[in-house]
Amino acid sequence: MNKKTDHHWEIEKLNEIKALDKKPSLLMHSCCAVCNSWPLEYLVPYFNITLYYNNSNIYPESEFDHRLSELKNYVDLFNEKHATSITIIAQPYDYLNYHATYLSKRADDKEGYKRCGMCYALRITETLNYASQNGFDYVTTVMTISRQKNADKINGIAKRLASGYPKIQYFYSNFKKNKGIDFSVNVSKNLGIYRQEYCGCEYSVHNLYDE
Ligand code: SF4
Repeated sequence: MNKKTDHHWEIEKLNEIKALDKKPSLLMHSCCAVCNSWPLEYLVPYFNITLYYNNSNIYPESEFDHRLSELKNYVDLFNEKHATSITIIAQPYDYLNYHATYLSKRADDKEGYKRCGMCYALRITETLNYASQNGFDYVTTVMTISRQKNADKINGIAKRLASGYPKIQYFYSNFKKNKGIDFSVNVSKNLGIYRQEYCGCEYSVHNLYDE
């Protein structure tokens, strides 16, 4: 699907949802507070949103806990400001297994290449599985807001995976658009929210110090 079609799909889908009597449910894969700030702001008028924090790719565990804690604080503030009741479903941390089973097999890949594609796919699959088991209408991921991540690549992977779940629609997104990045930077500055310097796994920590 090309960029123009993705964008048109997004606009048409939001117009279609706006005309419904009831907001559909959306399970939003979430990796941290900063990346989540714009997607929540943008989509809360259209969906009943639940956040899904499944990120065993994050190293070390203290970092996983810190990002989750900041996300909880941000969602509390968001709910107060918007009179919403958004909740977070957090899955247990299991980096040892995630690393041994997946990441270590592509240890030499550059960031953004096959290891990352596999990492996006795993977390999107887990999100789709949870959504399917719990009757959600839509799934999306906030990862497309990251400057370091290719939104087309993430959307392509998610579209292919979602085709195996006929009752769920994947919401195509490029949250970098509509000044999404500026919004998230401002939120981080104004509210003093933690903004991490690396993606998640130990290889992305190494990249930080190698560069
Ligand atoms: S750099 Fe990020 S997306 Fe890539 S494998 Fe590591 S945690 Fe996953």
